[in-house]
Amino acid sequence: MTRQTPRPASQNPLLAHWSGGFELPPFAAIQPGHYRPAFDRARAEHRTEIDGIAANTDMPTFDNTIVALEKSGRALDRVSNVFFVLAGADTSDEIEAIERDISPLLARHSNALYLNRALYARIAALHEKRDELGLSAEQARVLDRYNTRFVRAGAALEQQAQDRLAAINERLASLGTRFAQNVLADEKSFAMVLEEGDLAGLPDFARAAASAAATERGYPGKYAITLARSSVETFLQFSSRRDLREKAFQAWIKRGENGGATDNRTLIAEMVALRAERAKLLGFATFADYRLDDQMAKTPAAARKLLDEVWGRARAKATAERDALQAIAADEGGNFPLAPHDWRYYTEKLRKAKFDLDEAEIKPYFQLDKMIEAAFESAHRLFGLSFKPVTVPLYHPDARAWEVTDQQGRHVALFVGDYFARSSKHSGAWMTALRDQEKLIGEIRPIVLNVCNFSKPAAGEPALLSFEDARTLFHEFGHALHGMLSNVTYPLLAGTAVPSDFVELPSQLYEHWLEVPEILRQYARHYRTNEPMPKALLDRLLATRTFNQGFATVEYTACALVDLDLHSQPDTTALDVTDFERKDLERIAMPPEIVMRHRLPHFQHLFSGGGYAAGYYSYMWSEVLDADAFAAFEETGNVFDAATAKRLREYVYGAGNLRDPADAYKAFRGRLPTVDALLKKRGLADANPA
Ligand SMILES: [Zn+2]
Repeated sequence: MTRQTPRPASQNPLLAHWSGGFELPPFAAIQPGHYRPAFDRARAEHRTEIDGIAANTDMPTFDNTIVALEKSGRALDRVSNVFFVLAGADTSDEIEAIERDISPLLARHSNALYLNRALYARIAALHEKRDELGLSAEQARVLDRYNTRFVRAGAALEQQAQDRLAAINERLASLGTRFAQNVLADEKSFAMVLEEGDLAGLPDFARAAASAAATERGYPGKYAITLARSSVETFLQFSSRRDLREKAFQAWIKRGENGGATDNRTLIAEMVALRAERAKLLGFATFADYRLDDQMAKTPAAARKLLDEVWGRARAKATAERDALQAIAADEGGNFPLAPHDWRYYTEKLRKAKFDLDEAEIKPYFQLDKMIEAAFESAHRLFGLSFKPVTVPLYHPDARAWEVTDQQGRHVALFVGDYFARSSKHSGAWMTALRDQEKLIGEIRPIVLNVCNFSKPAAGEPALLSFEDARTLFHEFGHALHGMLSNVTYPLLAGTAVPSDFVELPSQLYEHWLEVPEILRQYARHYRTNEPMPKALLDRLLATRTFNQGFATVEYTACALVDLDLHSQPDTTALDVTDFERKDLERIAMPPEIVMRHRLPHFQHLFSGGGYAAGYYSYMWSEVLDADAFAAFEETGNVFDAATAKRLREYVYGAGNLRDPADAYKAFRGRLPTVDALLKKRGLADANPA
């Protein structure tokens, strides 16, 4: 590896003032060699600011402590935001090396902030007399959040415990980076290269996507199935070649578990042990107890209660689904017990038989560009937003940008969509930001990104989505709205900075508007004829809402249960990851025909970073909220009801972390949710737990 010599800061575009359109980073001028010196200088600058706040000899005030902290570290935020957008969406060997290098240094930097006793003493003193400071509700919330953050990071502990915590945090940061890079390496190194004769069963769109993937991987004229979800799932759905389905499926579920340098199992064992140790140092019995204490759920027991309520019903429904699939296989003369690599294939056949519907018939109606418009239109009708495409220099030619404005034509945000899979992109779909909203140092509006992994079409062909892809697009756009509509003063509370069991409410709720018939009638148009989807087809599509939900619920809930169990172990010594996963799945009686949506060796939600560690239940927790929240619209008879949308914007999409999540939800809905709407939505209300 080569590294450019550091240049003076003024010549480093990461540290210069960004004066271009929308104050975007000057991506074209930024070279990998700029990152390390920029990180170093920005960290030093932040460190000086923090030391200054901590060493202030004046009595602590909200202004000289909390506001000062909120204004600090701006250069580091900018450098980090640019770097991590690229590390996720358009990485390279050079970027990966910098990431391995920088992640423990950033953890050390964060330790220096949150384990600073003098600084914590000032925050604690303010927090103690918080009722006498004459603070606004938002200021009181910011102070409370700072105090909680410092306490949860270990600021109140003895020196020895703090030293150990600091070492643990640094090590965890390194391990998380390596975990994600290992998954990407396994995904990059696999491509099932096929000939024309191997494509039996694949519809045109799948052939076109496989052809484009082969070209991208350096096999022009052939076809490639990759481990991107859109690629491998489509193949599993349509290929009549059982041998090839098995081969692709095995590669997919073995990511991170292939032995050698990219095997993640020892990393996981170490991470789980370190997390447990950190929780104990902070006074919690297990990592799950520590983690959930600051979530809406509050305790592992509360999260488990919800999952258990769903699990039995989901298994019962999945068992019935399996029997139906097995019957189809038998009818076709298949003399084998249904295997996991068969599930999607026979489900597709059942869907066709039951609803006269197949994915190949639906997909021509789901053009990427039309679905983007549909997501924009829903935001227009709910929140009065408008979207105008703008040409700005971004980091990759596939990324596009829109300026977002409100009804008065005022600038709201810049939205960037980066939708296609490529080998330089990590798998999955996510929302992130180059800049967060705030009003502390002026009216700062956000720059928000959606990054997805949809199959890129061959040149000249339209990009077509599956209905699931369209759902993902709406999901991530819901997160994006949470960032873009944010209307707070203090950056700490902006946008998606909420507990992770609340953060999926805006995203999952937004998925509901994809299924609104008038939206589909308008935007689900055939890519050749521009005809709207025929009503009969639309009705059949919407009738499939609860189809295969036993499988989907089992595939997800198993992950959430295994995650909670893994992080609830009192003794984490000598963890054998494969053995743990197998035994835990046995304990919950996982149906053998279904594999976890994310097996532990590639479960990035839990181990690359750790944002969802002991928190994967969050999706279902949020789903209880989103199902109940959408019912609030349905009860008015208008899914775009203005008064309901106004409350939703005030208390959810625009509110960041201004309120405790339960209070925010009650303010929107007038009450807390029940699980009923979720069970109904998934078609599980009548399923009898086995
Ligand atoms: Zn999400």
